[in-house]
Parts: sequence; C-alpha cells; structure tokens
Amino acid sequence: MTAAVTLLPASSEVTLGVLGGGQLGRMFVHAAQSMGFFTAVLDPDPASPAGRVSHHHVQTDYLDPQGLAQLAGLCAAVTTEFENVPAAALAALAERLPVAPAAAAVAIAQDRAAEKAHFVRCGVPCAPYAVIETAAQLAAVDAALLPGILKTARLGYDGKGQVRVADRAALADAWARLQHAPCVLEQMLPLAAECSVILARGADGTVVHLPVQRNLHRDGILAVTEVYEGNIPPAQEQSGLHAAKSIADGLDYVGVLCVEFFLLQDGRLVVNEIAPRPHNSGHYSIDACDLSQFELQVRAMAGLPLVAPRQHSPAVMLNLLGDLWRAPGASEARTPPWDRVLALPGAHLHLYGKQTPARGRKMGHLTLTAATPEAARAVALQACAVLGIDPF
Ligand code: ATP
Ligand code: MG
Repeated sequence: MTAAVTLLPASSEVTLGVLGGGQLGRMFVHAAQSMGFFTAVLDPDPASPAGRVSHHHVQTDYLDPQGLAQLAGLCAAVTTEFENVPAAALAALAERLPVAPAAAAVAIAQDRAAEKAHFVRCGVPCAPYAVIETAAQLAAVDAALLPGILKTARLGYDGKGQVRVADRAALADAWARLQHAPCVLEQMLPLAAECSVILARGADGTVVHLPVQRNLHRDGILAVTEVYEGNIPPAQEQSGLHAAKSIADGLDYVGVLCVEFFLLQDGRLVVNEIAPRPHNSGHYSIDACDLSQFELQVRAMAGLPLVAPRQHSPAVMLNLLGDLWRAPGASEARTPPWDRVLALPGAHLHLYGKQTPARGRKMGHLTLTAATPEAARAVALQACAVLGIDPF
C-alpha cells in the first residue's frame, strides 16, 4: 500500500512505526510524539537509541515474521530509518498497511548498481562507473575509470566497503579483499565540494525541500554541514534541486529522500548517491528551520500536508563522533566538556543515548545557529576549539 491515507494525530491512539532504532529513528520518534502520535520501533537491539524512547519496541530481527506481524498489528503506517533494512520486510508490511517509502524505491537505494542505472534513466549525471560482478567485467574495465574508488554494491555506509585504487593491479587486489562481492568502480573525481538536497514527496506528487546543504566529509564520514545563503553557487543549487526532484519523481517516491552530490572543480554537479530517509546532513533543520526533516517524514507517511520548510537561521552542524570521548593525547575516556559547549550562543546539543563511544561512531551532533552566516561559522569554530574537532 502507498500512503494514500490521512492519519490525524491524537484523534485516537494512532501509532507510527519505524524500521531501525538508530539516531534517525530516535529523532523520527521525537517528531512523531511531539505531534501526538504513538510510536513503535523494530530493532533487535534492546539498547537501540530509538527503541529506548518509543512507546513500543519490537525487539526482533528485521525479517522475523512474528516481529513484522507485531509491528503491523500496532501501527497505522510504517517508515524506515535506514536503507539496509531488507526490502522484503517492507514488502511484507506493505501487504497489511501503508509503507513509505515503498520497498521498490528502497531496493534501488540499497544497490549502487541499480541506483546508478536509475540516475542514468532520469538523465541526471553521475560519476563514470562500471559494474563489477565477474572476473570478465574486471578485466574489461575501461582504463579511463582509474584511478577510481571500488565500492561494494550493497551495505556500505560512512565510507565502509570502499577502496581507492590507482591502477589495474590495485583494483584486482581490492576486489579480492572485498571477497569478490558485487561492486561498482567509480572514477575518482576532482571534488571542489559536496552538497546534498533533502526533499519530501507526497503520494499526490507534491514535493517540498530543505535548502541545499554543503557537506564536509573526513575519512568518508560527514563531519560538518553548513547551510546558509551563498554556501553553494546559485546555478548549482538550482541544478541540484532539479536533479533531486527528477530522481524522486522517477521513483514515484513517497517520504523523505536525500540526494548527495559532488560539486566538481570545473563547476559541474554530479549525483553521488541517494538515501531513502532523513539524512545526517539534514539534522540542522530541527533547530534552524520551521519544519524539520523528521516532521516531514511524519507528514509524508501519514498523508498530512507537505508545506515548504523555511530556514529561519543560518546554521552549521558538527557531528560528534566517539573520538571526542578521548581528549587529544589522553588514554582515559572522558565526558566531552558539554558545559562549555552549551555556554556558546545558539548551540543546540543532540546526543543519541549510545553507551559506547567507539572511534568514528556517531554519538550526537551539535547545531550552531546565529543571525548571520559569519556568526554561525564563528561560533561553530569556537565549538570545534572547545571539543578538539579540527577547524573547517
Ligand atoms: P554515506 O552512506 O555515509 O554517505 P558511503 O559509505 O555510502 O557514505 P559515499 O557517499 O559513496 O560513501 O562516499 C563517501 C565519501 O567518499 C564521499 O562523500 C566523498 O567524499 C568520497 N567519494 C566517494 N566517491 C567518490 C568519487 N567518485 N570521487 C571522489 N570522491 C569520492
Ligand atoms: Mg555518501
């Protein structure tokens, strides 16, 4: 079923469900609850960030028939917080209740080869690439794709499942290291910057979007998002918005979709990948916009009106990785100096309730809002200095 229904909050106990209990699920739960909905989370981890704050927490595997039946019994509609939830789970739920986004759209976002084929179908440029599933395809790779990045077709995130390869020998070696899993080889592009577009699309085809985000990655992980006028040249901004809408329309998408782009040194904008859900680069919208990406997710799945969000404050978001729980040079774990961070004007601290601060693990984020872009950047740089994050 697509989300052609309208679910009114708090008319009775209306429960919205989410597959996956990470931080995205947690912020979805917060948004849904603040609008008067009840929530249910499916995640096997008893300590999952979203499960801990939800009315209901079904603690089973994503493909467990009993877990899915329990979720379907509780909920009026279901969404997902990550793309690696088996599309089969969404398809099974869709037989019983509205599911947004649909399994078919999530299946495309799960697979880099299918995703790129979709970009080509929509006429949106992406990095030159080759699909590598067989030794023959490996041998036939066009030399123009090297140096490149070999990416597993499935299950990659935060730069995991990716190897940079300089030549054919390195490519063969990398594919062996990835255990000959189906992969996509992408040409290494000369990036000037990265950006993303987050939109919400309703069952009637209405599309609304957040402002274009400029993103800085470090070690394959998003580190900083800056959102204010002038962060991206207007021509690229327009082409990014246009491309994102074409991609969503082409999927007949219902829900929140993020499209990541590369801005090349010659000024071209090419699409990198899509995420069929709210995205780390949209977290600033909670504090800097009058409608957050999570409220858009709630509205889209519940068939409620999608109104264009307005950004009321320039914003910079800093990801808070587990690395911060260890002061530079120290061997003992620490609690980062949140009191000093919260002394900064316009600082909005979000921690996800995760117990173990591992290196590279997303533990929370900090959004700095201010009256001007310059002020937002300045206070974000102060926060970096307090926390020991490299300045941007
Ligand atoms: P996530 O899901 O966290 O966004 P991911 O693991 O799916 O990340 P990608 O988005 O494919 O990975 O790549 C991670 C980062 O690596 C990109 O944001 C970019 O900085 C760099 N990168 C990826 N592909 C290319 C490319 N073809 N040319 C240059 N840089 C690239
Ligand atoms: Mg990415």
